[in-house]
Amino acid sequence: MSTYEAVIGLEVHVELKTQSKLFCGCSTEFGKEPNTQVCPVCLGLPGSTGVLNKKVVELATKAGLALNCEIGTTTWFDRKNYYYPDLPKGFQISQVFRPIAYKGYLDIEADGQNKRINITRAHMEEDPGKLVHSGGSITTSHSSCVDYNRSGIPLIEIVSEPEIRSGAEAKAYLEKLKAILEYTGVSDVKMEQGSLRCDANVSIRPVGTTALGTKTEIKNMNSFRAVQRAIEYEVERQVAVLEDGDSVIQETRGWDENKGITLSMRNKENPDYRCFIDHELTHIELTPEWIEEVRATLPELPDARRKRLVEEHGLPVYDAGIMTSSLDLADFFDAALRKFPDAKVISNWIMGELLRLLNAHTMELSEAKVTPGGLAKLLELIKKGTISNKIGKEVFELMFSEGKDPEQIVKEKGLVQISDEGQLTQILTDIIAKNPKSVEDFQSGKEQAIGFLVGQVMKATKGQANPGVVNTMLREILTKN
Ligand code: ADP
Ligand code: MG
Ligand code: ZN
Repeated sequence: MSTYEAVIGLEVHVELKTQSKLFCGCSTEFGKEPNTQVCPVCLGLPGSTGVLNKKVVELATKAGLALNCEIGTTTWFDRKNYYYPDLPKGFQISQVFRPIAYKGYLDIEADGQNKRINITRAHMEEDPGKLVHSGGSITTSHSSCVDYNRSGIPLIEIVSEPEIRSGAEAKAYLEKLKAILEYTGVSDVKMEQGSLRCDANVSIRPVGTTALGTKTEIKNMNSFRAVQRAIEYEVERQVAVLEDGDSVIQETRGWDENKGITLSMRNKENPDYRCFIDHELTHIELTPEWIEEVRATLPELPDARRKRLVEEHGLPVYDAGIMTSSLDLADFFDAALRKFPDAKVISNWIMGELLRLLNAHTMELSEAKVTPGGLAKLLELIKKGTISNKIGKEVFELMFSEGKDPEQIVKEKGLVQISDEGQLTQILTDIIAKNPKSVEDFQSGKEQAIGFLVGQVMKATKGQANPGVVNTMLREILTKN
């Protein structure tokens, strides 16, 4: 690989969060019975023309501004002509010649390096319908049905320059893009529900050269991790092709998640879509004042929020990056911080416990029952010494799964920390009697031995003893003897 470098450009389709479709009043709600959210306009019946949903223009502008794009004051829709059963009109309404947003950028961090990825354009378009195959795939099916509920749902397609150099950078780009779009509220950006879809264009070239190699376009990845893996596989495959003395052919390839490989889907010699301006739809004129009004509605974006957590709350950059990686998490963090003003302690608990549990249960934060107020209360209990840190983790698991109040859990389960010396004396005497070797070690100057003894007491009390108090008491007893 050292003699080649990877060249990657991403095309990301994002569903805009509107109640109704791009050119008709049909609902955009996900998961409804097939073909229940359709009308002559989104079915593309002859003679029907729609009216542009103004909200789409507003959300596309907002997304473009959040991605540091320029916004064109004159923009319009074009027809991209092709035939497929999911597109009964025979053309897709898209923006080919004059996208609403262009020349933007996104800053990412991958492999410990900061990097700016330029965004070529972000344009509005309509989603086609969806084919539902009777078997596993189109090739193994006898028949396919078409669901037009999705037909006409507004999208923006965000196209990057071919400046991404690895699967890891592609993943970082997608994570940042997702966070920005989520913060601005323009989309749900849920890959599982198809509100964010990504195609990866991949080529390689000898290091030190600038001409672009022949690219393949990879589809069917259903997670950011899959995008990264698919790119890594595809780069290696292309290197092997060149090293065999063959050349890469321009084609569309599908990612097979189970096998971990890309497979040829179809040759694609740049189809001619015979694009032309859609003269049935009027041009869109945006005034600079209106664009500024939209800009004024932009919230604090992930990078700014991260900077604030570092500068105002002294959080390490790494922690701040994780805390701001999604809006839900950033809001959770901020809400907890308002009640328990120790940013680092909160981020430790979020990274160490909350994210760990979400991961283990493959859950979203919104599905977890624990609240920021609950976490703050728990941290207060630990700080006051009512419970130990270790017991705190057990309590947190119950808060996570059952949503109970930490004080209630501690009371019900009798988990209050034992700090009372009277209560601890008997246990300590016992542990000392059972571990003469460690006692001797400590008394002959081996400092670590005390740690072992404290550990034994913690074990005997199932984590309820106050380790600080135990430590002090042990030292007193052992140095007296
Ligand atoms: P197409 O017409 O095939 O969709 P575009 O020129 O519109 O191709 O580019 C689509 C995406 O592919 C963009 O993200 C672009 O950066 C990327 N791209 C273009 N050429 C290459 C290449 N040779 N290698 C990798 N990516 C490329
Ligand atoms: Mg393409
Ligand atoms: Zn409709």
